[in-house]
Amino acid sequence: MSENGLLSLFQNKENVLENVLQKTPFGFSLINEDYVFEFANEAWLKIVQKENHEILGKRIFDIFPETETNLLSIFENVKNTKVPFYAPEQNIKLERKGLLQDVFFNFVYQPIYTESGEFQYFASVVIEVTDLITTRNKIKNDEERLRLATESSHTATWDLNLKTFDIIHSSYLSKIFGYNEGEQISHQQMRDHLCEEDRINIVEKAFEKALQTGVYQYEARLIDKVQNEKWISTNGKVFFEHDGIPSRMVGVMQDITQRKTSEILLQQSHHQLNTAMVASKLGRFDMDYETQHKYNFSPRFLEILGYDSQTETISSEVFEKHIHKNFVQLRLDALKAAKQTGDLFYQTKIVLRDGTQKWIEIYGKLLEPIDGRKAYISGTIRDITENKNYEKNIRESEKKYRFLADAIPQIVWIGEKDGQLTYFNKATMDYSGKNYNDFLDGDGWLEIVHPDEQQENIRLWAKSIRTKKPFFFEHRFRNKDNEYRWFLSRAFPDLDEAGNVKKWVGTSTDIDDMKRQEKQKNDFIKMANHELKTPVTTIKGYVQLLKKMRGDSEDKFLVNSLNTIENQVNKLNVLIGDLLDISRMEAGNLPLNKKEFSLLGLVTETIEDIKASEQSHHINFELKHPTDIEVYADKDRITQVLNNLLTNAIKYSPTSKMVNVELFVEEEYAVVSVEDFGIGMDHEELNKIFERFYRVSGDDEETFPGFGIGLFIVKDILDRHDGKITVISKKEQGSRFSFFLPLGKNKNSK
Ligand code: ADP
Repeated sequence: MSENGLLSLFQNKENVLENVLQKTPFGFSLINEDYVFEFANEAWLKIVQKENHEILGKRIFDIFPETETNLLSIFENVKNTKVPFYAPEQNIKLERKGLLQDVFFNFVYQPIYTESGEFQYFASVVIEVTDLITTRNKIKNDEERLRLATESSHTATWDLNLKTFDIIHSSYLSKIFGYNEGEQISHQQMRDHLCEEDRINIVEKAFEKALQTGVYQYEARLIDKVQNEKWISTNGKVFFEHDGIPSRMVGVMQDITQRKTSEILLQQSHHQLNTAMVASKLGRFDMDYETQHKYNFSPRFLEILGYDSQTETISSEVFEKHIHKNFVQLRLDALKAAKQTGDLFYQTKIVLRDGTQKWIEIYGKLLEPIDGRKAYISGTIRDITENKNYEKNIRESEKKYRFLADAIPQIVWIGEKDGQLTYFNKATMDYSGKNYNDFLDGDGWLEIVHPDEQQENIRLWAKSIRTKKPFFFEHRFRNKDNEYRWFLSRAFPDLDEAGNVKKWVGTSTDIDDMKRQEKQKNDFIKMANHELKTPVTTIKGYVQLLKKMRGDSEDKFLVNSLNTIENQVNKLNVLIGDLLDISRMEAGNLPLNKKEFSLLGLVTETIEDIKASEQSHHINFELKHPTDIEVYADKDRITQVLNNLLTNAIKYSPTSKMVNVELFVEEEYAVVSVEDFGIGMDHEELNKIFERFYRVSGDDEETFPGFGIGLFIVKDILDRHDGKITVISKKEQGSRFSFFLPLGKNKNSK
């Protein structure tokens, strides 16, 4: 090859090289040591947006003055160290297609030396990396967006290596399991938090299935680190290697506790609603709010209307035909009202196909339009035939009772639970000459009560209201002629199941005649007593005198007669005394003359006295206390009590001849008991023997003479000593009466 040829080749080569450099897609330029451009290719010129003539032979810093501070030191450094300078991803704003755009370049400044090691050029190489950067940014943004999306939708992400079971997860996943946000938890830890039952039955099964199908999906419960029960939902996808071996599972996890609990609540309330509907036998329907056309009749609805819900169904028009003609207008009015208020309510009679009539109640409520659904009224239908009949029956029976109450001559009244009187029967008006409203307003009632009894009346009524105990009171009412008559008023509370008063039902019975008769009777007894006492005392005196004079006579008949007369006169005396006591008791003036005395002495003396006149029975006495017992009481009255019990014991045991008397102490009381083995009493009799003039009825009446006042007096005496009397008795087996006197009631304490 000739020199020429070589040169030309070299020149040619240079040309080729230059051509190549000119056309390469990356920018290339050469800057000499004076920082003057000697070469720049097309790409380079395009990047810096210059023409060739604008830069060739010019200093770089004259063209790009803003770069001088930075570049100068870089150039120096490159030149001295011979190490190329690399500036990656430099952002330059360039106008492209008429728009100013962010463009990214990697810059390299490479020093070029001659073969002898002399510095020759700085080569500037520029490669555009905009696409790379935007792609990378896009990925980064997508990732960020995904992260935000998952976090804001409370979704955790995870990535499980199926070979090592290492798991990578987002920080929200830790939170689901009750850990701190940053904390990493292992796959095993996650499994351990699952509810045992769900882990076995749900999660592990889902996992197995995922390895087969590639899709992982389940909902299960877990107990988080702080012992909260939570519901989670997991969705994942399995990645398989080429040979079909699963290598990786990626998925999301959500805390669905709220959804689940509301789902469960919804289910529950659905269930409750259903049960309630079934239990209350309610039917259901929906009604178009605008057209008022009914649809969706439930089976029960159809049943109420007399259709077979299995085989039949009806339209809105058919339903309307069943409305009883008297109620058509009422129903239309109700529908009209529903259009305004959204509430539908009416009760109507309906006529079934077979002609039977029923009462129904329709109730509905407007449901606002949602999810593109029109507004509609959801309603219920109830068969109220029975209630209606019941109401009618109640109305009728109330009428009946009012009629009854008005028909009887007795005063009847009803009070509310607070004591306010709200009803009076006709007899009340008839008696008082007032009208109904006089009684209902204010103190109408009290107004006719005699002023002497008003205070006590108010007190007792208030007490009954407070205690819910029956009310009893005797008081005088003024009649229309302004005269007062005695009434016995009684009121009983009508209680509900909980024991609260619903009403008070009261009656007032005219006892004026009875009262008057009783007074007459008492007056008579008092008088008779007086009149009897004198002759009896005289007889007794003479008998005693006669006994003294002729008591030792040979004439047995005379002595016996005198004894008999004396016995009978004594009995007569006791009877007269009893009668007198009764009238004095009733007048409230039977005085007690209390003093301290020995109960033992009293008991033995009384027994001796009885024995003297009644030899028929054997009276045993036993003191069941280590010492004598002292009491503070009216000795004569207590003697009377014991006397009464002993004579009864003898009188009511005609066949058995034994009477046992015991004296002892029980708790705070001195007790004397008298036991016989005579005719005894049954339960019913026992309840009444302490009433005045009560005598057990039957044949015995003839056999056992008496007035039926003995025990009445006994009880009164004991009451006034703060004592009591008890009795245990069995028919045909005998009775045991015990009376109790309080101990420690000495004169100092009384
Ligand atoms: P009476 O004067 O009738 O005895 P009481 O008041 O003493 O009146 O007694 C009332 C009634 O109680 C008697 O009529 C009698 O039926 C019954 N009674 C009282 N004591 C006894 C007794 N020990 N055994 C059986 N019945 C008795």
